[in-house]
Order: sequence, then C-alpha cells, then structure tokens
Amino acid sequence: MILKSLELQGFKTFPDKTTLTFERGITSVVGPNGSGKSNISDAMRWVLGEQSVRTLRCSKMEDVIFGGTPQRKAQGFAEVTLTIDNTDRRLPFDNDTVAVSRRYYRSGESEYLINKATVRLKDINELFMDTGLGRDGYSIIGQGKIDSIVAARSEDRREIFEEAAGISRYRYRKEESERRLSRAEENLVRLRDILSELE
Ligand code: ATP
Repeated sequence: MILKSLELQGFKTFPDKTTLTFERGITSVVGPNGSGKSNISDAMRWVLGEQSVRTLRCSKMEDVIFGGTPQRKAQGFAEVTLTIDNTDRRLPFDNDTVAVSRRYYRSGESEYLINKATVRLKDINELFMDTGLGRDGYSIIGQGKIDSIVAARSEDRREIFEEAAGISRYRYRKEESERRLSRAEENLVRLRDILSELE
C-alpha cells in the first residue's frame, strides 16, 4: 500500500496546516532533537484509529492538540488526513485515492472520515484489517516493537502472521458473531423468565 500524503493541522508540533507528500522510494525525515519527527509517526497511528494515549506518547487524548508556546496560543482541535494510493483498488473504494481523517476537539468530541464522509471508528478499523497498515498492523515499527514481538506469547505473535496472511478480518467477524450470539442467548433467557412469570 502506497502512502501519498499526510496532512496535519493542530496536531502536536504542527499548529499550521502542514502537508507531507511521499514520493516513490524511501522518505527520510531529518531534524534536530525535539523538532517533531516522531510526532509524524504518532499522527499516522492516530489517524488510523490509535486509542492508546501511551502509544501516542501522551498522558490524555487532549495532548495531541497543539498546546501553545509563549509566542502562540493553543489550538482548539487537531486534524490529520492520510491519503493512500488506491489505483490497485486494494481498498474497497472505486477511487484512485482514499483519504482517512480524524478530528479531535478539546471538548472531547471526535470525528472520523473516509473520503470526507463521516464514518465510525469501526469502519476505519475494518478498512485496514488484513492490510498491515491498521492500528494493530505491523507497518509502523516503533522503538521497542521488535523486542516486544520477540518476547510476546506465541498466541500474540500469531496475530501478526494472521494479519499478514489476510485472515484477521475473519477472526474479527467470528468474534463479533459470537458476541452477538451470546447477547441473543441472554435476551432469550430474559424472555423465558418474563414468559414464565406471565404464565
Ligand atoms: P528526537 O529526535 O529527540 O526523538 P523528535 O524530532 O522525534 O525528537 P518529537 O518527539 O516528535 O521530536 O517531538 C517532541 C516535541 O513535541 C517536544 O518538544 C514536545 O514539547 C512537543 N509536543 C508534543 N506534544 C505537543 C503539543 N500537544 N503541543 C505542542 N508541542 C507538543
């Protein structure tokens, strides 16, 4: 999957709208310590639905919003858009590019969009399932990730292979069906109780 661009506004060290475009081949980001290089990979994780503030190197979700400097006041929201090349139609959209966005306000309100249409977080997760790019994918290898893979329990390590083999989607659907089935069974038990009270 080829990334085309990443647009950030109000995200961590990027108060102004900033667009990074990725050409074919390798892209390197260089800059002094603390200038915001890692914040770019945080933005990618975030737009792909990351919910763990620890993974995003924050103490609360609001910390992803530009917090201000002595010269500049804080922003009220953060927005990131990741545009992906879809000329191979790998993602189920009949468009040459697919853009996913996430917006988060200080009030705690948040929004996810795919090609500018509002969607649920679930839709973002399902879109990238089995592509390796999603929130739990292996495309973003952060510091300590290799160590954690090596030290992981074999069942957890298996999930990485399942994602690469393209079967995560089916495991997810199976788990979702099992959850629905058990909810239906609970409802049945309740219904039987009510019926027996009425009889
Ligand atoms: P290094 O080379 O040392 O790893 P880096 O270039 O990867 O550094 P980052 O870790 O991406 O730098 O950025 C750290 C900087 O981001 C810190 O100066 C921190 O104050 C700033 N920062 C993080 N969150 C916010 C925020 N919400 N608002 C403003 N600045 C922020």
